[in-house]
This record gives sequence, C-alpha cells and structure tokens, in this order.
Amino acid sequence: MDLNVLIVGGGIHGAGLLHDLATRNLRGIHLVEQNQLASGTSSRTTKLVHGGLRYLEHPSQWGLVREALRERGILLRNLPGIVRPMPFVLPNFRGGRPPWLVQTGLTLYDLLDRVSGLPSARRLTHAELAQMAPYLRPERIAQETGSAFLFYDAQMQDDVIVRLAVRAATRLDATYQEETRVEDVIREGTGFCVKLASSRGRQEVTARVIVNAAGAWCNANLLRWGVTPRVPCLLDVGSHLLFRSQAVPARPEDCAATLLQHEDGRVVFFIPWEGRWLLGTTESALTGTPDHWECPAGDRDYLLKVAAVNLDLAEAERHIEEFFCGIRTFPLRASTPAQAGQPAPGIWRENPFASPFYKRRLEKDVSSLSREAVVDEVVPNLITIYGGKFTTYRALCEGVGDRIADRLKCARRSGTREQESWFLDELRETEPGLFHSYSDLRHG
Ligand SMILES: Cc1cc2nc3c(=O)[nH]c(=O)nc-3n(C[C@H](O)[C@H](O)[C@H](O)COP(=O)(O)OP(=O)(O)OC[C@H]3O[C@@H](n4cnc5c(N)ncnc54)[C@H](O)[C@@H]3O)c2cc1C
Repeated sequence: MDLNVLIVGGGIHGAGLLHDLATRNLRGIHLVEQNQLASGTSSRTTKLVHGGLRYLEHPSQWGLVREALRERGILLRNLPGIVRPMPFVLPNFRGGRPPWLVQTGLTLYDLLDRVSGLPSARRLTHAELAQMAPYLRPERIAQETGSAFLFYDAQMQDDVIVRLAVRAATRLDATYQEETRVEDVIREGTGFCVKLASSRGRQEVTARVIVNAAGAWCNANLLRWGVTPRVPCLLDVGSHLLFRSQAVPARPEDCAATLLQHEDGRVVFFIPWEGRWLLGTTESALTGTPDHWECPAGDRDYLLKVAAVNLDLAEAERHIEEFFCGIRTFPLRASTPAQAGQPAPGIWRENPFASPFYKRRLEKDVSSLSREAVVDEVVPNLITIYGGKFTTYRALCEGVGDRIADRLKCARRSGTREQESWFLDELRETEPGLFHSYSDLRHG
C-alpha cells in the first residue's frame, strides 16, 4: 500500500483527522488502531462538550474557552441527538465564591458563545434547584446554599462520535484497520516505510506523511521508532462511577446536571447520561503503562465519599453499574530537564514510559494545567498530536489537515463544519449499531 497519509491511533484525534482529510478529497489516507476504535481515552471521558466554566478563572485560558464554545455550537448542529444540550445547576454553597462573581462568570460564558443558541444563564430559586436537582442533599440546599444558578452546556456519546467520524470518512474513500499496531517507522527519502503487525501477520506500507495521534502512547511510539521526542508528557488518570437510574428517585432525562465542589476544593460533575447517572472525575497519577495499568484503588472510594457528602442517593454502592477510568495526557511545553542531555531513544525502547519523556508527578496542582493540545513535528512529515480536549478536536484536526493539505498540494478546504459530511441519515439506516455507546453494548 502506498499512502499519502497514515494516521496512528483510532481515538477522536485520529478519527477526526481521517474525516477532515477525507472531506478534502485526498486519496490514500489510512488509519491504524492497535485495539478497537475509541478503545483508549476517547470512550472514557466525562461526556461533556463544553467550554469549561472553571477555566474562566484563568484569563490566559479564555481563548481556549471561546474556541471550545464555538466547537460546541458546531457539534450540536452537526450531530443532533449524539451531542445534546444539557442544563446545569450551580448551587453556590455559603462560604464559596461571591454570587456576583459567579454571575459575572456565567455572563461571560454566554457572551463567548455566539453560535449555539442555548438559553442564557439565570438565577434559580431554592425550589427550582430542588426540582431540577432532586439528588442534592435537601439539608445542603436549605441550610448551606446561598444562591443558585442555571446555565447550559452539552453532552455527548463520545465513542459513537469516533466511530461515526471514521465511517463518514470511509464513505469518502478513506480506509482503516483495527487490531493492528504500528510497530516501526523508518525514514525513506522524504517519506516513510511503516511496519504494521496484527494477529494476521506483518505488513509493510509506505506513507508521505505520518500523524502520531496516539494519545498516552505518543512518546512511547516515537521512542520505539527511534525518534527523540521534544515534548515531555504527564499521564494522569481520571475515574468515573456510572450509577443505574434507580440511584435517584427521578428520571435522569427530567433532571439537570451539576458541579459539586468537594471539601478538598476539587470540582466533580454529577450528570444524567443515557438513562443513568455519571459521577466524576478524579486526578491520580498513572501507575504502570497505558498497556498495563489499573484504575487507582482509592478513586472509587473517593467518588463514593463525594456522593455521600453532597448527594442523596439510594444505596449508592448497590447501584454502581460501572467504574471506569481514562488516561489524560498533559504535554509539558516548557523545556524541562528532559530536554538537556537526552539519551539516545534506543535506550528506552524496552520501557519508553520509564524515560524522562514521561513525568510521573508534578509539584504543582494538575488541575491548573492547560488542556490545550500541542502539535509537534519533530521530524519533517512526522506530526504528533499531544493532549487536548475532545470538545475542540474538530478545530485541532482542521489545523493539522490544513498543514497536510498544504504539503500535499491539495487546495480543497475541510468540510467537517458541514452536517452533510457526516452522512448521518445514511449511516443510521445502514449501520444502526454504530449509534450505540460502549456502555449500552456492555450492559444492554
Ligand atoms: C477522565 C477524562 C475525562 C475527560 N472528559 C472530557 C470531557 O468531558 N470533554 C472533553 O472535551 N474532553 C474530555 N477529556 C479529554 C479527551 O478525552 C481527550 O482529549 C481525547 O479523548 C484524546 O483523544 P486521542 O485521540 O488523542 O487519544 P485516545 O483516545 O487515547 O486514542 C489514541 C489511540 O491510539 C492507539 N494507539 C497508540 N499507539 C498505537 C500504535 N503504535 N499503533 C496503533 N494504534 C495505536 C491507542 O490504542 C488509542 O486507541 C477527558 C479525559 C479524561 C482522561
């Protein structure tokens, strides 16, 4: 196979880029995923398509919030039902932020979004709060809530979006394969010879451009391919509890979501999702590697404690349907000690995650790290996508797509802003299974 572009990784960034390049009518575009599409972080998110209200506290992040809100509008329009509006109640417990500050933040959040047409934020009475969030502890509402607000964001079926993006791309002649690993990449002239391995055997392809969209595996791949990374990463785990609908004596679809500020200052979401209730997330160091790791032992208990303090759930433990975790990748832009005197990449071939290109912990609070993605081209035509948010994947992929199209002398612009590029009606008819989330497939 002689390819123009080979994409490594079938998470949202690989899938989104395949879709982007296919809408430009580029030929010879192929994606390779070592497991199944969306089997990595992209099916283990908090399922929010959001600007990130709390990032407004850092003016340096306003640009990212604005971009995320613009993308929220595009996804709401293009993927109706798969991305949908979600009301959020914000109880402002006494001793928390002053109401004028919360109100100002919400007004700014509304002002930064000019496309999605969601209702504006407003104040709520205690009675409205209790009705929209019947799962909150009544005594907390009565005694501790100073003021309360309602605002809108959106939620998604994350893994469904990944599969749809790939399938839409295949309607435009792109190709992909699962259960296949990109083992090695060898430079040949201005392109690459790529070695693939699967249970069916080994295969060699050539590609003019490679995009390493491998999430937590990005630097491990580079090191295995003999390339020294320039962007060290911190890998960190976020956990969620999914409760059955019976945990709350109200229908999830009749309720709003909420943000809980736990005693330790951490913000945790409680969200109605697909007829169930989702609670998360945490931030714990990854022990092991993305191939061999376990959900952090304390996270389940931590989330149950958050629930016990803030929520009025019936037999919470008994109604746990699933405990799932995902790995966040934080690219650390600043030059760190890892940049100086780097050892040859071959040294870390056996265990790239023990290399200085992965940081185990940081001194500072991880929640204050930027969620912005970093795109790096350490070798010409070998592009790596680090970190980022699901919400902003389309814009990120459009940027990478522009760079590749320029290289391959393709003048056609990305079509992913257009609803037709998703072939939704056609896919609903021919492949209805694509529209079921992993959670339904596992439990239904
Ligand atoms: C707990 C948590 C909650 C989050 N919640 C949200 C949220 O609510 N909203 C939001 O906008 N963002 C959220 N995010 C961020 C978002 O999930 C990520 O930005 C996004 O999913 C990353 O996608 P990716 O494609 O880069 O990585 P992944 O989804 O991990 O995909 C990478 C893929 O590459 C494959 N791969 C790696 N190496 C190879 C190889 N050599 N050969 C073949 N395949 C390979 C892997 O198997 C994997 O499937 C959350 C993240 C976490 C961890």
